[in-house]
Amino acid sequence: MGSSTITETQNAPLSLQGANIFNGDSSLANATNAVFDWPSFEFAPIRESEVSRAMTSRYFKDLDKYAESDIVIVGAGSAGLSCAYVLATARPDLKIAIIEANVAVGGGCFLGGQLFSAMVLRKPADEFIKELGIDYDDEGNFIVIKHAALFITTLSSKVLALPNVKLFNATCVEDLITRTAASGDVNVAGVVTNWTLVSMHHDDQSCMDPNTINAKVVISCTGHDGPMGAFCVKRLAAQGLLKRNRMGCLDMNRAEDAIVRGTREVFPGLVCAGMELSECDSSNRMGPTFGAMVLSGVHAAEVALKVYERI
Ligand SMILES: Cc1cc2nc3c(=O)[nH]c(=O)nc-3n(C[C@H](O)[C@H](O)[C@H](O)COP(=O)(O)OP(=O)(O)OC[C@H]3O[C@@H](n4cnc5c(N)ncnc54)[C@H](O)[C@@H]3O)c2cc1C
Repeated sequence: MGSSTITETQNAPLSLQGANIFNGDSSLANATNAVFDWPSFEFAPIRESEVSRAMTSRYFKDLDKYAESDIVIVGAGSAGLSCAYVLATARPDLKIAIIEANVAVGGGCFLGGQLFSAMVLRKPADEFIKELGIDYDDEGNFIVIKHAALFITTLSSKVLALPNVKLFNATCVEDLITRTAASGDVNVAGVVTNWTLVSMHHDDQSCMDPNTINAKVVISCTGHDGPMGAFCVKRLAAQGLLKRNRMGCLDMNRAEDAIVRGTREVFPGLVCAGMELSECDSSNRMGPTFGAMVLSGVHAAEVALKVYERI
């Protein structure tokens, strides 16, 4: 019984839904147990310039469209992407640009911590995971997703499918746009961007002027201090516009509550979420527990909408 099931499975033809296999001759597919007719396989023809134009025409259209964004999110880690998901779903009328310095999205969220796979989130962050439809083990006060990469890839695929979101990756924010009112009050009014590879070579190349994106609200989710982290907090602190307080020592219980509660507009026009906040508030580090990143992102979406309506 068991072996016949295995044999049937082994003999069953593989299929790619919608694939035009064997010129539509499915009997041939069944007979050979192959998806395509491999010996005579060929792709639809294309000219190289069509590939270039397919990419560049869309990218430059997006650059044009998002040069004036409603909201810019800096950093596509767990906090930034959670924020983007809630914001863009709730407000399909808003243009939301995400700027990510790395080629890959996800920040420190492809592993659960210490290079282990599983990802721990304390309740009530499970509500967000249910919304995304990801399976998890319920351990009482916390849940465990079998792999952090499952979380971040599911979340990013949902965010990227939203029509009002554009991810500019391999692009870093290397400065902020500010405006100074007659009263002397300063507010953030957008971001200054550059290709990350260009930003990394300012010391040995010249003529590398940046690009800009204007936005009513900037949400900074660049993580704690590191080679690229805590960017907006550090930039404003360097200008004497914001006081920087370095991340405190590890205390999971205090740290997660502090990050979620403290999520706010830290400077006019700039909302801060995720671990970057610890560089602003000196809140504790928390180690590999991610509920606070998710719910800080959710909280940041709410705050950003209030700021957006105010400005
Ligand atoms: C070395 C190390 C130490 C860690 N220590 C802790 C800890 O102490 N406490 C803790 O809770 N977790 C720690 N973690 C785990 C985990 O990585 C973070 O908590 C979690 O990923 C933070 O989520 P986040 O969304 O706030 O930021 P991140 O996951 O760090 O995401 C930030 C994103 O912003 C991008 N970015 C940064 N600067 C810019 C810029 N200028 N322009 C555009 N994009 C930018 C980054 O590329 C990144 O993708 C650590 C991870 C590492 C690798």
